[in-house]
Amino acid sequence: MLRAQLKDRRIEVTIVEPQPYLTFQPLLAEVAAGSIDPRHVVVPLRTALPDCRVLTARVTKIDHATRTAWVDAAPRGELRLPTEVPYDVLVMAPGSVSRTVPVPGLAEHGMGFATVGEAVALRNHVLEQLDLASSTRDPELRHAALTFVFVGAGYAGVGALAELEDMARTATKGYHNLDPDDLRWILVEAKDRILGEETPELAAHTLAELRERNIDVRLSTTLESAADQLVLLSDGSRFAARTLVWTAGIRPAPVLSLTDLPLDGTGRITCLPTLRIVAPDGTPLPAAWAAGDCAAVPDHTGEPCAPNAQHALAQAKLLAENLAADLAGQPLTAYRSEYPACSTSLGLRRAVAHTRRGTRLTGRRAWWLHRARQLRRLPTRERRIRVLTDWLFGGLFQREVVSLGTIEHPRAEFESGFTPGPGT
Ligand SMILES: Cc1cc2nc3c(=O)[nH]c(=O)nc-3n(C[C@H](O)[C@H](O)[C@H](O)COP(=O)(O)OP(=O)(O)OC[C@H]3O[C@@H](n4cnc5c(N)ncnc54)[C@H](O)[C@@H]3O)c2cc1C
Repeated sequence: MLRAQLKDRRIEVTIVEPQPYLTFQPLLAEVAAGSIDPRHVVVPLRTALPDCRVLTARVTKIDHATRTAWVDAAPRGELRLPTEVPYDVLVMAPGSVSRTVPVPGLAEHGMGFATVGEAVALRNHVLEQLDLASSTRDPELRHAALTFVFVGAGYAGVGALAELEDMARTATKGYHNLDPDDLRWILVEAKDRILGEETPELAAHTLAELRERNIDVRLSTTLESAADQLVLLSDGSRFAARTLVWTAGIRPAPVLSLTDLPLDGTGRITCLPTLRIVAPDGTPLPAAWAAGDCAAVPDHTGEPCAPNAQHALAQAKLLAENLAADLAGQPLTAYRSEYPACSTSLGLRRAVAHTRRGTRLTGRRAWWLHRARQLRRLPTRERRIRVLTDWLFGGLFQREVVSLGTIEHPRAEFESGFTPGPGT
């Protein structure tokens, strides 16, 4: 977008991103459910932005006063010397990361849900639990395998739980000794409502839908311990669960604290409605812009916009336009957040949605609307066609419900050949 705006100028755009692709997170739940091929929710940066310089690296520090960023190209945090990258104009959009807390057992047994890898791993894990429950004669193990706990009822938690519950329900048909009612799904939320990023109406609506499906939603409840895969909640309940998904909130990308940029009390970069970064005294920083989850951009009420894809995409577009206008010496436009057109997919042919005019939809109509919206937002026409094709094929054939968990340990079989067997 920025490249298109600045086409005529003699500029160079450098993108620093640890993954060689952009991930469209709102469709991750459908990846976990097997409705979409994992590769189709990512957009390869080098293909999508052929004229930009893409550095597959992580920014480790920024000193805007001297216009210098330090980037580290080492995969998986191996120690190497960061490279200095001088720049003229800075655009910050590193998003946010999961907010974790030191709950006993969480680091050992919990799983996150923000990347394609995590979505695929969770899908395989859930299907493996069905295989385990069907094959064991141990009733306690069976019960623990069929108990699925999600902590945090934002987009990620609600979407992933609803899609996986729907998929697992379908999958039980293939097992001689599993019934959908044997599965126990629990959603734990510390606040007194779900979907904090959405309107209260849509949230209440979604909550009613989930409860109607026998999903056990516990509001104003926290996870106290998960040690030894024994889940202890603040309401006093205690039970064994082999699946614990942590989707309890986000915090701004850690790199922000390694910059000299002004941050607000929540750690987001302070911005003007024009998306320029602003110092505490109200002076805009020269040549510094920010958008998306990492940026505290005031909405029409003066409060910072909620971290969601709608704002991130709309701000990115405006940022590009304003940056081009600024370089041309033209006036800038302020960001105006519209009444959100919100929707949440809750499985195959189920969703809840609100239109911009406030009309409430459920079931198939909401689901079609939700899919149309996601398709419109998904970057690049090619990705849109691929996802649409996945959906069309998904409508023609039965859902694919086989676990390919061995993909995560490709060397396991080979390595076992080196273990001495009996009689060797
Ligand atoms: C599972 C899930 C489902 C969601 N569903 C919805 C939904 O239905 N509707 C909705 O509106 N919103 C949804 N959201 C929220 C939405 O995805 C985010 O608000 C949106 O992606 C934010 O966009 P962004 O560009 O600010 O950040 P991101 O999309 O997170 O992009 C930030 C990028 O910066 C990179 N980065 C981070 N640190 C560094 C660094 N140090 N150096 C270099 N690069 C770095 C990251 O790798 C990442 O690719 C969902 C989020 C999740 C996790």
